[in-house]
Order: sequence, then structure tokens, then C-alpha cells
Amino acid sequence: VLTRACVVSLLGLGCGCGHPGAQTAASGPTTERVARPAAIDGPRALAEPPSAAVEAHVVLTGARLPGGQAVALELRDGVIAGLGDAAPEGVARIDLGGRTIVPGFIDSHVHLAYAFGPADVPEGQALLARRGVVAGVDLAAPVAAMASFDRRRWLTSGPMITAPRGYPTRSWGADGYGHETSGAVSVREAIDALAEAGAAVIKVPFGHGPELGDEELAALVEHAHARGLKVAAHALLDTDAARAAALGIDVLAHTPLEPLSDATARAFRGRAVVSTLMAFGGSRVAVDNLRRLHEAGAVVLYGTDLGNSPVLGIDGEELALLRRAGLTAQEVIDAGTTRAAAFWGLSELGALEPGRAASLLVLDEDPLEDPRTLARPFAVWVDGVRQAPASE
Ligand SMILES: [Zn+2]
Repeated sequence: VLTRACVVSLLGLGCGCGHPGAQTAASGPTTERVARPAAIDGPRALAEPPSAAVEAHVVLTGARLPGGQAVALELRDGVIAGLGDAAPEGVARIDLGGRTIVPGFIDSHVHLAYAFGPADVPEGQALLARRGVVAGVDLAAPVAAMASFDRRRWLTSGPMITAPRGYPTRSWGADGYGHETSGAVSVREAIDALAEAGAAVIKVPFGHGPELGDEELAALVEHAHARGLKVAAHALLDTDAARAAALGIDVLAHTPLEPLSDATARAFRGRAVVSTLMAFGGSRVAVDNLRRLHEAGAVVLYGTDLGNSPVLGIDGEELALLRRAGLTAQEVIDAGTTRAAAFWGLSELGALEPGRAASLLVLDEDPLEDPRTLARPFAVWVDGVRQAPASE
């Protein structure tokens, strides 16, 4: 397990703890790189170093969509300019050698300030982007760190709104990860202040000690929604999840850990749940809860709880557990792309189609065969810029 100091060292800042390094950290036992296709021909091979001049306008040839359809993807000035079966003439080409392309990944539950340090949020974002996580949702950060998020791609809640002495202010979140308040008026003022500071979502905890009352939480949900902000709930128990749904929250920040009643699972139809299965050890109960929430019609979003989880990138084990929870391989891809982009309003992401951002993963294998290949992208483009290899 990575300590926070080790994460800092991965950013090149040095912790002296002798951790084996970033590549190992991002790779689980299932993430060894497979042999790449032998022959890469064409004007420019993917193995050549990126060239900014060429890549302002380039067409990726020899690409496949999941399922195998061959395509050429034209990237221009950071945006997808075309997707077709033939490459346009007169445009620089990069041959992907038959590899599969998917949209850049979105992690719907991270803690960048906690994982990388409040002063190193931009470096953390850049590291994740090189590993294929091009956007995400940060569900607890100190106010002082909020200004350093790239708001085009990273939504943040800022501190959780919590009761006096409430979670997480007396545990891991003592350094500004919770904003203690009481009374409906103060709750609304807290939301206004967070929105002013850049919050794009409101996070509220249930359980773990003192918590806001129903009247305060009703005001919180009503006021957040009036400002166009979704509300995410930390709720690990059945009664807490049921209460969160009854109060109108939009998304569970975690799959609950205690067996859910059928009524609670049904209450999440049309709401969303962020998986975070590996962050709690991938328990059989949680996997079964996610299966039942999915069957009940909840939107399942991929998320790792980075900061609690040590994986700096896309977590192949989390993807495998989504399959075990009954999602099809396509639904696993969608949980980190299409569904996440639609749920969070990241309208430039989530699909490879003209007009969307040129942010994509190049994969050695078809993720419909095994979604874990998403965790080891061969190459990554972000807004039309090919990223340096993940191991650098
Ligand atoms: Zn979290």
C-alpha cells in the first residue's frame, strides 16, 4: 500500500522511503503489459516520440472501435474532427497498428488533495491523465485547494458539509476536508460559499457520528439543486442509504458495505452509485449490492476513491469487480466514459465523435474481451496532445 509520502515521491518530490515506484503502484497483478502487435507500418509509427507540430492536426489510422470496426480518427486543435472508415488526404498520419480506441476515462470518486497533497493537485491531474484518467470528480478537498483544480475536467465538492464534530473532521479529514455547520440557514450559506469557491457538486456524510438532521439535509438538497449542483452522499449502511435516497440525493459516493434491503436498492432507480469496490477490499456483500443497484436501475459509475485507494490510474481490479457485479463489458466501459460524462455534464468527453475533445485511450486488446486492458493503455491523448508514457 502506498503511503502519502510515497505518492509524493512518485511526483518526483522525494520521500526517501524506497517505494518501488509509480509503474509498480499503478499495476496490479493483472496489469502486466501484453506483447504489442509486431508490425506497425505507415508513415509514422505510434512508437515514435510525439511531435507537437504534427499532432495539432493528425489522423489516427489502423484504429478499431471496441468490437473490431476499423476506423480513422481525425484530431484537429484538440477536438475530434472526423471519424470514418477512410483517412482524409493531406493530413499527417499515425498508425495505431490495429489497436482499439476508447474515450478517455473518468473517475467519479477521487481525493486529489489528499492523495497528492493540497499544493500538488495539478501535478496529480497530469499524472492521472498520462495513465488514461482524463477527468474526474473530487469528493472532498480543503477550500484552499479548490482553486488549483482544472475545472474543465475535474469537478470538486470542496469540503463535505457536515455537523459539528461530524465525519470526517475527527478522523482523516481533520485538515479542512469537512465544513462543520448546523441549521438550515447555515447549510444554505455553506453551499453558496462553496459554489462561489468553485464547487460543482455537494458532498454530505451519513453515519460515523454526529450528522445533520432531516430538516438541514432537506434544505441542503433543495438549495444545491436550485444552484444546479448534484448532491453526493457517503452512506455505507442500509439505513443511511435509504435515508439519503428519501432526502433526494443524486449519487452514492460508494457502493454500501452492508447488505441493502430490496426497498433501498429500488430507491436508487434513476439515481447513481460510484463503485469504489476495491477501496473497501472488494467485499462479496458490496459486489452483490452493486449488482442489485444495477438491476434496480441505478446508474453505475466507475470510481476508485483515490487517496483511500492507492492506484494512480485506472484500476483493473475495480473493472473486474464491475463485471462480477453483473455489468456487461460494454457497461463497464460506459461506467468510466459515456455514463459518467452524461451524469456529470462533462459534455466534451464520453464519446469518440466529431466535436468532442480529442481525449482517448489506445489499447492493445479489445476491452469487450477483457475490460482490464483499460487499466494499461498503450497510449493516451488528452485534448489532442499525446501524453508522455505513464512510466516517465
Ligand atoms: Zn472518498
